[in-house]
Amino acid sequence: MSKKIFSFEFFPPQTPEGVEKLAATRKQLGLLKPEFFSVTFGAGGSTQARTLETVQQIKAEGYNAAPHLSCVGSTRENVSAMLNTYKAMGIKRIVALRGDLPSGMATTGEFQYANELVSFIRAQNGDHFHIEVAAYPEFHPQARSAHDDILNFKRKVAAGANSAITQYFYNADSYFYFVDECRKLGITVPIVPGIMPIVKYTQLARFSDACGAEIPRWMRRTLEGYGDDTASVQAFGQDVVCALCERLLAGGAPGLHFYTLNQAAPSLAIWQRLGLPQ
Ligand SMILES: Cc1cc2nc3c(=O)[nH]c(=O)nc-3n(C[C@H](O)[C@H](O)[C@H](O)COP(=O)(O)OP(=O)(O)OC[C@H]3O[C@@H](n4cnc5c(N)ncnc54)[C@H](O)[C@@H]3O)c2cc1C
Repeated sequence: MSKKIFSFEFFPPQTPEGVEKLAATRKQLGLLKPEFFSVTFGAGGSTQARTLETVQQIKAEGYNAAPHLSCVGSTRENVSAMLNTYKAMGIKRIVALRGDLPSGMATTGEFQYANELVSFIRAQNGDHFHIEVAAYPEFHPQARSAHDDILNFKRKVAAGANSAITQYFYNADSYFYFVDECRKLGITVPIVPGIMPIVKYTQLARFSDACGAEIPRWMRRTLEGYGDDTASVQAFGQDVVCALCERLLAGGAPGLHFYTLNQAAPSLAIWQRLGLPQ
């Protein structure tokens, strides 16, 4: 069995306190020797400088950094400049995305879909970068149909993506079904499940509605019932997410990618309960 790949995702902090907190988070999660730390990027370039700074800090600490790069609202020139900067820094992995245009921003720019970004990266940089793309076991909310979404995913892989990280989900069957459908279409790249620990219910519900990730009714009702009782929300969340991860790994998932929201404790707790290597 090949080695499982574990990674953690951060967003670029906006304040000096946030920068300090994230450095502490990295210190704790770095002990787990993840394959890489990834850093999100605001579509339309809104976090461009902060993403770069965070990536520089991760590199300086000796970890592998994987910047996210979203192309909507951007130009070839701009994307090319960012790729050159990352290449010069010794970055080897990019998470290539379309992104979502911030409200009020009218132009889609020179890229319409992520597959165009993947092709562009390959054309400009050959095999220098390992390219990750996004996948959606519960399907992207704008996809015309489930099948179309898988064909669009296939297009990103055909353009040169090496592997994929999924949107988070709480229903393991959706992941296994998605992977099976991909394999039937000849898509062979690793598809690593994205894992969202449950810390605050209202925040999670808002996120999930926006990105099309389903919180199953039995989970919603239970979480709603806890109200402001954060300890119960987190204890229940941990039980559910650990059971999900166990099932995914046992069922052949090639690793796990944790959406940390810049906090170490929720991912660490899951890691320890799963008995993953320390
Ligand atoms: C692991 C992960 C990390 C993320 N990180 C970030 C981040 O850092 N910053 C950020 O802004 N967002 C991020 N997102 C969110 C992501 O940008 C949004 O979900 C966005 O709406 C779609 O991006 P994509 O790369 O999946 O787009 P695409 O793969 O381009 O797909 C977008 C939609 O268009 C459809 N589509 C694709 N190609 C075609 C085509 N040729 N014709 C017609 N329809 C097509 C797809 O089916 C889908 O519905 C992340 C998502 C994931 C899963």
